[in-house]
Amino acid sequence: MSLPFLPVEIIKKTRDKIPLTNNEIKEFIAGYTKGEIPDYQISAWLMAVVLRGLTSQETYALTKAMLHSGTIIDLKSIAKTKVDKHSTGGIGDKASLILGPIVAACGIVVPMMSGRGLGHTGGTLDKLESIPGFNTQLDHETFKKILLQYGICFIGQTKDICPADKKMYSLRDVTGTVESLELISASIMSKKLAEDLDGLVLDVKFGSGAFMKTLESAKALAQSLQTIGKNDGKKVTALLTNMNQPLGAFIGNSLEIFECLEILSGKTLINKVGRDLYEDTRELSLTLAAHMIYLGGKAIDIQTAHQLAEDALTSGKALRLFEDVCTAQGGDLKKLSKATYAIDVNAHSSGYLVGINGEAVGMLGIKLGAGRAKLNDSITSTAGLKIHFKVGDLVTDNDILWTLYGESIELLNSIKDELLKTVVIEKNKPMPFELIKEVLY
Ligand code: URA
Repeated sequence: MSLPFLPVEIIKKTRDKIPLTNNEIKEFIAGYTKGEIPDYQISAWLMAVVLRGLTSQETYALTKAMLHSGTIIDLKSIAKTKVDKHSTGGIGDKASLILGPIVAACGIVVPMMSGRGLGHTGGTLDKLESIPGFNTQLDHETFKKILLQYGICFIGQTKDICPADKKMYSLRDVTGTVESLELISASIMSKKLAEDLDGLVLDVKFGSGAFMKTLESAKALAQSLQTIGKNDGKKVTALLTNMNQPLGAFIGNSLEIFECLEILSGKTLINKVGRDLYEDTRELSLTLAAHMIYLGGKAIDIQTAHQLAEDALTSGKALRLFEDVCTAQGGDLKKLSKATYAIDVNAHSSGYLVGINGEAVGMLGIKLGAGRAKLNDSITSTAGLKIHFKVGDLVTDNDILWTLYGESIELLNSIKDELLKTVVIEKNKPMPFELIKEVLY
């Protein structure tokens, strides 16, 4: 073993809250990546981090060590500003697929490296792969070529990017060490820094459908992510957004692609009480896009940036770009599948919709096959749900609350009762739903 210290000394220091030096962290992570430090020692250290925390300097050093465990995609040959967005995960969150083409249409390069569904939340890669033929596993050269031509490309984490994070994440999943602000921050930011970005916009979600259940915990995560980005000389803006109901009208992979195409085509979906069910998806996408456009230096203020984003959407430029990139990545949007079966679920009472338990809806989505219960589970791309009412709407007894889609009628029927329990209907009208709570610069 070539390590300049005993791994047990590192574990003891973190256990006793003695800060590690940058070099100790670097060597510890490098040793783990090379297989010189066994899983049981890293697991013990991860648990010490969960219980004792790390300083912001240690968190930054960990991020850099994870980043340098692999390669950084070299995008220097693309002489344009590069800005990406990262969401901490939600239900029905398809904003990346709308804002990416909008921002690219405004002249900013968007190297979008995304993930798969995690826990109860959906993943951009799974959504894209519901488009027949769509390839998210591109090598770096093809990624660069598509970026150069269209200004946007969607890929997954390749084996060369942050291998330490890949190894550590699977271990965290089975050792109860996911829930650490520092570990989450280093894991997310190491992958984002590998994209060679100039700027990053973070969508940090709070509420029932998010990992961070409270606004305070989401804010702490946002600040931790921002600190890492700024330490690395990147411009980072964080939006704290509300996940106390699913985003948009549809949840499920091909259904969400359908919603994106509808929004990119300028369509609306008006429900029984006159609400456009696409409105929150559209507004979140435009607002995040506006912050990316502003960070990328294409507008003098957020208002102007928002207008540029709206123009890219309403002119159809963003739609054409999305269609072109899908084709370039092998996807055939005309072959997007529809579910064989659909059943409605009706309300059992009247009143205002005051909340929808996003996490419970996400877990039922997994039961339907829209997400994975285990890492290697396959996905039913057509499975999912349509939500007919949003928080604040007046529901009448027997109104259709949900439509369920899938390939097994028995499965659809089996979750009807549980789905009804995710919805809270009360007599009093709730406060207006605030989608975007705060912006941190
Ligand atoms: N997403 C990541 O990439 N890493 C984490 O640790 C949590 C969420």
